[in-house]
Formats: sequence, structure tokens, C-alpha cells
Amino acid sequence: MQHTESSPSSGRSPLDILASVYGYHAFQGTQEAVINHVVNGGDALVLMPTGGGKSLCYQIPAMLREGTGIVVSPLIALMQDQVNALRQMNVRAASLHSGLSVAEQRQVEIRFRNGELDLLYVAPERLMTPSFLNQLKTLPIALFAIDEAHCVSQWGHDFRPEYTQLSALHQRFPNVPRIALTATADGPTRKDIVDHLQLQDAAVFSTGFDRPNISYAVTLKDKGMDQLLHFIRRRTGEAGIVYRVSRKKVEDTAQALQNKGITALPYHAGMTAIQRNHNQERFMREEGVVMVATVAFGMGVDKPNVRYVVHMEPPKSLEAYHQETGRAGRDGLPAEALLLYGLADVVLLRRMIGTPETNPRAFVEHHKLNALLGFLECVDCRRKVLLSYFGETPGTPCGNCDTCLVPPSTWDGTVAAQKALSSVYRTGQRFGAAHLTDVLLGKLTKRMTDHGHNTLKTFGCGKELAKESWKSVFRQMVAHDLLTVDMEGHGNLLLNENSWQVLRGEREVLFRRETLDAATGRSRVAPETDTALHAALSHPLTASLLQTLRETRLRLAEEQDVPPYAIFPDKTLMEIAVYRPATVDDLGNLYGVGQAKQTMYGQLFVDIVASHAAAHGMPESVPPMPQRAEEKERRRSARESRGVTQTIRTTLDLFAQHGTAEAVAAERGLVVGTIYGHLAQGIRFQELTVEDVTRNLSAQALQAIHEALGSNIASGAGLRGAFDTLKGQYDYGLLRCIATGLRGGDSPEQDW
Ligand code: ADP
Ligand code: ZN
Repeated sequence: MQHTESSPSSGRSPLDILASVYGYHAFQGTQEAVINHVVNGGDALVLMPTGGGKSLCYQIPAMLREGTGIVVSPLIALMQDQVNALRQMNVRAASLHSGLSVAEQRQVEIRFRNGELDLLYVAPERLMTPSFLNQLKTLPIALFAIDEAHCVSQWGHDFRPEYTQLSALHQRFPNVPRIALTATADGPTRKDIVDHLQLQDAAVFSTGFDRPNISYAVTLKDKGMDQLLHFIRRRTGEAGIVYRVSRKKVEDTAQALQNKGITALPYHAGMTAIQRNHNQERFMREEGVVMVATVAFGMGVDKPNVRYVVHMEPPKSLEAYHQETGRAGRDGLPAEALLLYGLADVVLLRRMIGTPETNPRAFVEHHKLNALLGFLECVDCRRKVLLSYFGETPGTPCGNCDTCLVPPSTWDGTVAAQKALSSVYRTGQRFGAAHLTDVLLGKLTKRMTDHGHNTLKTFGCGKELAKESWKSVFRQMVAHDLLTVDMEGHGNLLLNENSWQVLRGEREVLFRRETLDAATGRSRVAPETDTALHAALSHPLTASLLQTLRETRLRLAEEQDVPPYAIFPDKTLMEIAVYRPATVDDLGNLYGVGQAKQTMYGQLFVDIVASHAAAHGMPESVPPMPQRAEEKERRRSARESRGVTQTIRTTLDLFAQHGTAEAVAAERGLVVGTIYGHLAQGIRFQELTVEDVTRNLSAQALQAIHEALGSNIASGAGLRGAFDTLKGQYDYGLLRCIATGLRGGDSPEQDW
């Protein structure tokens, strides 16, 4: 089948593609092993936490193997995001789903049949239709990738019945490698995946569960809304998720935040699909939006720069906690997970789970909640406790969680526990923590006298501790299973086997001293390699350049109707702000700048760096540009192949037929900016004249553009200045074409 140059064909290594297409410099974790295995035709089951980089594991083999890689994905939004991101990198990708018009679907099918796609994303129900399967039989297929493979499992909350039909793939296409990927890897789910997808002979690649860039913190809930507001205000401009336990709480919290001027949006299953999609879309595409949601907001949230996840109530289990917090920091940059909780939340969760009579899974669910409570009250490194739940045994404390950063102190609470337990006993195990605290403190409330509890032996026996401390004692006793919450009642506490051991003096009790709100401060620890980058970013001139870069990115994203991170990840902007590349070649040395983006956006961003320096000055010292080994090689071979490459040739041919960049972009499935980039190269190498490109412009428009270019290039404001002078009326790429024409002939781009 035919391959254009934009689609790397065989003869290139996975590392070449990683550098030239994605602009990354090394594989992470098991990526390279998986890729080699699949390129050689093997089946694979890939278990990797969120943010581990699963997509590359099938995208690169699809580009290296002959034919199209078919990717099964459960959500249209997920498919679209992936396809958008791939197109930004000039990879030939498309998706087929019910959200497309019939005409659009036909277009995609034609490109597929003509061998013009490296990757085709499809919904499982579409893939498994007889007509589609028959069509596949006649075409070269590089691989089948089954993303979010846990959807095949009935145990998980993401179960999709259509996924179970995928087992037929193995029989129908025995020679096409299959790769199943998921971030959910508990035992039963994993077994379901292997069974349903017939992956018994597949190689299993599993990376641990650790997410080292996420900093974990748990704090006592006390005026929760104030704590939340305080936390969010210190992170203005950053995207975050706030999980709440009920729809009503979601609505109220979103409203309360909005009233304080924060861009917060609600999301829960009680809203219409249109409202939900609208809010999700805004969260993905705008910067700094706070999503307040129930757990209905989950799969499909693959925004890489979510900087924090706050739980305003504890989740149901540690699995849920790991998955929900895992939505922060997919880009590998520092991110935070904060959980606020109090005893009332535990009571609520217990009641929601219910009893074995009302919920057949009650026993398991209570057990899981206990493990979670143990985590919330732990005095060890929180990451260690979390990972050990998943069967991993990290050696040392992580240094990036609240208990590591501010080790909690403990106190001997045996006597206090005995007092608390005996007040439970003497009041008939029919009361909750609030009333029991009043008993201990000897408060003469109406309730007290009504029940005659002021005559009890324990009345007023706990005056040595403050109300807050008793609250903490009851909460910790429940968490450590020294007291049981009555699942049928309204939060009354019951004695259990462990309680009696304490009462009989057979067991000592240690309590954690509360450090209220230690966690809502700024306690982020950057991963080792990013420390220097972050230090440099604190310089005001660097920070203001970063802000300008972000604004430009947002503008480009809006113009092209893609999320900002599809243009460049945050880390790329940070590197640009810190290293201040002077040329487009320098820029290509930075994180996340592949060849396509270098061509499309390189000059624009280099111009911004220069004009920002001209207007505001530079920090005294700028760190030297990182020299990445593979990168140099990539740049060398890129320089050697200067001139009109095959992909540009294709654009030029199509342009000769259609006459407009928009039509070529539509036909090739590329963004207009890329096409103009190709046309500019064509003009530079005199394959095309500038008149060919500007034929559809009026004389007046052309005059205005010439003037804007003339004055801005002369003043050093460059193309970017001209773009602004023209108020963004003309595509940046068009201006580049005309500027190339003005310079005439073969002059290097960065001379502008
Ligand atoms: P997952 O699907 O496992 O959650 P993604 O495939 O979305 O993860 O990757 C998470 C982020 O990490 C993306 O922004 C991706 O581009 C980036 N990434 C993946 N592999 C690498 C790598 N080898 N080097 C740098 N960044 C990477
Ligand atoms: Zn730790």
C-alpha cells in the first residue's frame, strides 16, 4: 500500500517516530517492549496507570506495520480527542462513529479503502457489523487495539456489552496482532479481559500503580466549602476536578464557587446529555475550569493537564480513589489529590452501601470502605499504604504525600477510647457522635435531660478534651473498626468485638493528632527532573512569557476547534518559556515538538519569545537548551531532507486541482495551517508562486497584508505582529506564504 512521507513507513525505528512525530526523547516504562512485541506481530495485554502513555503503544506499531491500525474505543469524545491530537502531528488518522454525517462517514471509508489511513478509530458496535468485518477482510490491517479493555468486564462500572463481541476478532483475523489496554487491573477484571478477548497467549506488560507526580493529602473536613475555596483560590487558572457524593451537592458546590467568581461547572447523571457534553467540552477546551462532579464524570476525561482532584467526601474504595485521583497529572507534571472527610461522611457512605438484605455486595463493599478508612487515618507514608493495597511494596517513604511532608504525631488514647466506648454502652448504642460528645463534656442539652443522660456515670467525664478532639476520637475509632456505624440507623454507633477488647483493657489505642489543613497549603514536590524547570518558571519574566504563550495556544486551539493541549502540552510551553529558543531549529529540541508542529507553529512561537524579550527584557540568565541525543540525529536527517518532500508534493498536486488550502485540508484530513505550511515550502522552493496562493484575495486585502507584513517585519514584530495588525482576519499560514513570496526564493525561514 502507498505511504506518503507524513506516514513513517518501514525502515524507521520506533524511536525515530517517537522523536519526529511526537517530539519525545525516550520511551517510558514498558512502552518500548510493548511496541517491539506488537510490531513483530505479537498479541499484548497492557496494564498501565492513567498517564502511563498507553496510546503510543498501539499508535507507533500502527504506523510501522503495513496497513491500517483499527482502534476500538468506547466513547466518541475519546476518539475525537485522539484523532485531533494525531492530526496535529500530521498522522493520517480518522474515526467512524454515529456523530458523523453520512457524507463524512463515506469520506472516511473512502480514505480507509484507498490505504490513506494509519489509524482508524471505531466504536465496537460498528466494528462488529458483518458488512464492516467483510470490508476489513479485503484490506491490510496493521493491528487491532482495544482501548479501555476493562469495558469487557461485568464487574467494573464501565461495562459495555458490545465489548464482549470482540472475542470474534481472534477467529476472524488470526494473523492480525491484538493489543488490549487498560488502567484498571484488579484480578477479576484482568481475568475477564483475557477470557473474553481470548488473550490467553498474549504477552502481559504491567507497570506498577504508582503515580509519582501526584501528591496525596487527606485532611479533616471542617467548614468544607471554606477549605475548598481556599484551596482553589491558590490554584487560579489551573484545571481541577471536585468530586461530590450527590447530585444536590454537586449543584450547590458549583453554584457556590461561581458566586465567588470561579469558573466552576456541574456534572452529574441527572443532567441532560446535552448539558453534560457541553460542560465536559468546556472543561476540556478552556483553561482553568473547575469541574464539580459526581463519579459519573470519569471515563473519557483524558485532559492531560488536570492539576488537582479534590474529594469532598471519601470515595467508596481505594480502587475508586486511585482511579479518580489518577485523572490528575496525566502529563507527568506535578499534580495534587486532596481528600476532605469527617465522621458524617463515613456514616453516609455506610448507609448508602446498606445491609446484605438490601445489597448483595454489601459485605464486600463495607470491607473495601474499611480499607479506605485505614488509608485516611494512616500515620505512615500514604503512597505506601495505597500501593500496598494493590500488592506492591515500595521500599521507602515517598516524600510527596502529607504524612511524609508533615509526619503526624500520635498520642496514647486508651483511656479516652474507654470513656468514649462506655458512653456508647451506657446510652444504649442508640446515639451518634455529636450527642455522645455532649455526654462526655457534660453538656445539659434538652436531649440530655429528656433521656436522663445527665445522670449517667460518664456524664461530664471527658472534660479534659475539647469538642474537636472528641470528634476526632470517634472518627478514628470508626476508621480503625473500634466502633461500628449502624447501617440501618441514622449514624448511631455500635460496640463490636474490638470495642470490648479496649473496654477490658486488652488493647491499647494510639490516635493521630489532628493537623488541621496542613494539606491545603502548597506542598507540591516536582519530580526530580522537573525541579530545575520549575525553579526557573518562578522568575516573573518567565512567568509572564508563559502566560503569553498560553494565550496564543488558546487562540490557536479556538481557531482550529481543538483542545489547547492538542496544540502543545503544558510542558512544551514551560520549556519554551524557560529556554527561550531563538530559532525554529532550537525549538525542535524541546519536549513535545515533532516535525509537523515545528513546521506549523515553530515560527509563531519563536516570534513570541523574541517580541516578549524586546518588550519586557529577559531574566539575567537563561539555562542552556537541553541537547537531546536522538533529537540531534532527527534534526540532522531533517536538514538533509530539506526541499520538497513527498507530503508537500501531495499537497501541491491537490492544490493545483482544487485551488484553495481549505479544500486540500479537507481532502487530506489535515488542518489548514499545515497545508499553508506546505504551500510556503512550495513557494520557497519555487514550485509555486505566491500569486497561486493569493488568487482568491481582493486587491485591497492583498494591499493591507503587504503593508502589515512590511511594517511588522521591519520593526522586528515579525509575522506574529502582522497577524495581530490584521486582527487575525487571515490565516497565519497564508501570511507566511506571502512573506515567503516577499523574501523571494530559497531563504531560510527563521530569517524573518
Ligand atoms: P494513558 O492513555 O495511558 O492515560 P496517554 O497515552 O494519554 O496515557 O499519555 C499520557 C501523556 O503522556 C500524553 O500527553 C502523552 O503524549 C505523554 N507521553 C506518552 N509517552 C511519552 C513519552 N515516551 N515521553 C513523553 N511523554 C509521553
Ligand atoms: Zn509519602
